[in-house]
Amino acid sequence: MRIVLLGPPGAGKGTQAKRICETYNIPHISTGDIFRENMKNDTPLGQKAKEYMHKGLLVPDELVVEMVEERLTYEDVLSTGYGYLLDGFPRTVFQAGALCDINAKKDCELTLAINLEVPLDILIERVTNRRICPKCHETYHLKYNKPKIEGICDFDGTALYQRDDDKIETVQKRIQIYQDETMPLIEFYEDKQKIININGLQHMSDVFKDIKKVLSGVN
Ligand code: ADP
Ligand code: AMP
Repeated sequence: MRIVLLGPPGAGKGTQAKRICETYNIPHISTGDIFRENMKNDTPLGQKAKEYMHKGLLVPDELVVEMVEERLTYEDVLSTGYGYLLDGFPRTVFQAGALCDINAKKDCELTLAINLEVPLDILIERVTNRRICPKCHETYHLKYNKPKIEGICDFDGTALYQRDDDKIETVQKRIQIYQDETMPLIEFYEDKQKIININGLQHMSDVFKDIKKVLSGVN
């Protein structure tokens, strides 16, 4: 199964990705997580990505595409029959075209693009209240999905943190970029008849129920 998750920052991609990957046993590939890991380890890729991420800008296409192409050669992808869920990629029409080319080299096609639809005006509230576990990447929300103990991950007891780019000024920029650069992907996948829209405004477990209904019909 080869899935792309689309949606603006705060739509719930990471939240749903975790559930989908656990249920369908495919690797969760979040380009944002890979960049943050590289930043934490101060790798050359992390140093380059940092310049853009801190400002809420997209990392240049060539860097992202090269990174994803390499990631798709890992054992977890190959051992699941070239299976993956991409979270946060593609984000531009160039990246979507590159993904088609990467898949074609493997004689494979994308199974589905799942688009989480959430009105733009509620995103700021979602993103600024997001807290993350640096260890297992579990995502919490200060109101809708609180950890059992304030500030601590339920799963591994690690202290939660707020992403630098989840501060209000940066979020506004990211939403603008989503509208300009990423929204055109909806039409891109509509043209290929590969897109399914899901109401991302529902409770997270209902969003997941809808996704499961769709995925039960594909293999
Ligand atoms: P994305 O990966 O698309 O940026 P996340 O999955 O990190 O989004 O979700 C953003 C924030 O919104 C998190 O704090 C998360 O807990 C919360 N969230 C996710 N889905 C829902 C939902 N359906 N209803 C309310 N809050 C949600
Ligand atoms: P995310 O974790 O998906 O919200 O991504 C956080 C940030 O990482 C984005 O705001 C970008 O700066 C960068 N990033 C992640 N994925 C991509 C991508 N596909 N293309 C360009 N930049 C990306």
